[in-house]
Amino acid sequence: MTIRPGDVAELLQHLIRNRCVNDGTPESGQEVRSADLLDDYLGVRGTRFEPHPGRVSVVYRIPGTRSAPTLTLMGHTDVVPAGADGWSVDPFAGDRSDGFVWGRGAIDMLNQTAAMAAVFRQALAGDLRYPGDLVMLAVADEEAGGRLGARWLVEEHWPEVATDYLLTEIGTPALRGQHGPGIPVTVAEKGPQWRRLHAHGTPGHGSQPYAADNALVPLADAIARLSSNPPGPHLSDEWRRFVAAWNPPNDLAAELLDPDRIDHAIDRLALDDLGLARWVHACTHLTVSPNVLRAGIKANVVPDRGVAEIDVRSLPGQDELDVLDHFRKAIGPGFDELEYEVVEATVANGSTPAGPLWEALRGAITDTAPGHHLIPAMIPVGTDARFFRTRGTVAYGVGLFDDRVGFGDFLRMFHGHDERVSEVSLGLTALLYARTVERLAAAM
Ligand SMILES: [Zn+2]
Repeated sequence: MTIRPGDVAELLQHLIRNRCVNDGTPESGQEVRSADLLDDYLGVRGTRFEPHPGRVSVVYRIPGTRSAPTLTLMGHTDVVPAGADGWSVDPFAGDRSDGFVWGRGAIDMLNQTAAMAAVFRQALAGDLRYPGDLVMLAVADEEAGGRLGARWLVEEHWPEVATDYLLTEIGTPALRGQHGPGIPVTVAEKGPQWRRLHAHGTPGHGSQPYAADNALVPLADAIARLSSNPPGPHLSDEWRRFVAAWNPPNDLAAELLDPDRIDHAIDRLALDDLGLARWVHACTHLTVSPNVLRAGIKANVVPDRGVAEIDVRSLPGQDELDVLDHFRKAIGPGFDELEYEVVEATVANGSTPAGPLWEALRGAITDTAPGHHLIPAMIPVGTDARFFRTRGTVAYGVGLFDDRVGFGDFLRMFHGHDERVSEVSLGLTALLYARTVERLAAAM
């Protein structure tokens, strides 16, 4: 079976140029363009789902020939916005140079979507066989929480997307440790716990602020307190398992497993590799990032209302009450002046790194990247896998990358500048998926 990296690269270029930018509004994204592209590329028309005009998710299915678990390759076709500032190239030109494909979505996750399509095309051609249903799912709206994509499909159309096994994002380059290089496989992800803080005041003239009831002040104060009182470390079983499999050099492993020393270790890591330090921090802490603040209408009017939006992400074992408890302690006396709105309250979830799909992946890594082992990893971001896991699907995120971009630099490209992927990595990722299908088929 052959998959030429150049073919995957070309498909990726087209996906990038389709500019399916999801800014969070229902009208954005317009993933229908990439659904059309995938229909053309695969030479079949998939089953379309369109909860809002243009927000198309598409399912391609090769029915199984006997009773065996369903395996789904799921990629999203939307991307986050990108301004031209800070980029070396036009983020939507789909440039290909120096062995890389550049552009928004090159690693999140149009690269993987393209590799999945290449593998699925091989299966359609009969060059790759799987005994159960083999499904490719190209979904819209991942970047806004899947309400017009995977989440909606799982909630409203489960019979059409039900699957035992699922491969999706995220994949990263290898991590090096004392066991040799390891391929991180996403087996768990933190829970988005987004909050909106509301403050209320009384309008008045800005020229006479004496004893003013200004809604902006308690809100700004709360944000300052949340920033100066960050949550302490919380080392989950998922984290301990990750560190054990990575087994980083020197005494870093011991520090990363010690709640009293981990924060110092993160500070030290940051000197060399900020991307890795942020990752380690996020995987070991409840994180609280105040990202939106709105109050006031005019420079001479005391604001009577204000709102702050806070991106909180919880670890396995933490829930809504832990978030509220942290806010109460961190904000202190001003806590009761504010109103707390829960925008999203999802707990962390994961799949066990064991069983037929895990073993198939392990075999495929041995075939494709000899000398590498698997590292079961938790990721700080949310993916569409979480909706499937709630229905009992075993879901992992994985890709295979060469060493041209290191782990930390790679992470910083997510939603960042100069997103790019090497053509070699595209070929490796496709090969890994194909061999995983073969290995799983052989085990059925
Ligand atoms: Zn993504």
